Amino acid sequence: MTLLILGGSGEGRRIASALQGQDAIISLAGATRAPEAQSLPTRIGGFGGADGFKAYLAEAGITAVLDATHPFAQQITARTATICHQVGLPYLQFLRPAWQPVEGDQWTEIADETEAAAHIPLGATVFLGTGRQTLPGFANLAGREVICRQIDPPDGPFPFANGRFLVGRPPFSVADEVALFSKLGVDWLVIKNAGGAASGTKLTAARQLGIPVLMIARPPKGCWPMVDSIDAALQWVADL
Ligand code: NAP
Repeated sequence: MTLLILGGSGEGRRIASALQGQDAIISLAGATRAPEAQSLPTRIGGFGGADGFKAYLAEAGITAVLDATHPFAQQITARTATICHQVGLPYLQFLRPAWQPVEGDQWTEIADETEAAAHIPLGATVFLGTGRQTLPGFANLAGREVICRQIDPPDGPFPFANGRFLVGRPPFSVADEVALFSKLGVDWLVIKNAGGAASGTKLTAARQLGIPVLMIARPPKGCWPMVDSIDAALQWVADL
């Protein structure tokens, strides 16, 4: 058996760590310039589309695929589930539970980035925790100060006159986030409902500081096998 893990989440790294020494490979998209080390043999970069992925499966002798990509990585997940079904390979998606609001949260759910402008008043300072790839969707936020956090140093200027990048590599503690949002004078936070404790600290910080949150809703769930815990994912591997 050769298991392919599609990584790109903290859980993908933890699953790889639990499977150290087994016949498994982890694949990363190469979205960050210096990804954290993985405990399994690692390949980095896209497969070259659907045909490239099919060719890779055959060349590498992959016998099962565990998809632990980020909950918002829609293309790779839908494509992989479809191809595995077509070629008869076992496929499982690890999908961490979405965040749910608790008392004290001031969340408004939005469908995508472009809806943020309808909620955020002119003059506000907006902190984007949504990643640099989402910036085109915020082009209509003119008149607000926009701060976009990303892991890597920017490779170009900020795309809009009213904003800037802030470089930071997670994890961030609640205390870190409270101090940062206070220092920056953040009035609004925009994030994707990624779920997970590690990146949930900014929500706790927003609650403590009374900062309203625009929460981009999860993409619809697929109709393929999925689990929401690392233990269940490891059990699936053990049962293969
Ligand atoms: P996406 O739109 O679903 O995928 C775009 C392309 O990236 C895929 O077609 C594939 O290229 C390549 N790719 C994605 N995951 C890969 C993997 N694990 N190994 C090899 N190639 C991969 O994904 P995305 O939203 O751009 O995210 C890219 C990566 O960053 C994902 O691995 C995801 O887990 C991670 N990430 C995403 C987010 C987010 O908010 N979207 C947040 C944190 C981390 P080819 O067509 O060439 O095979």
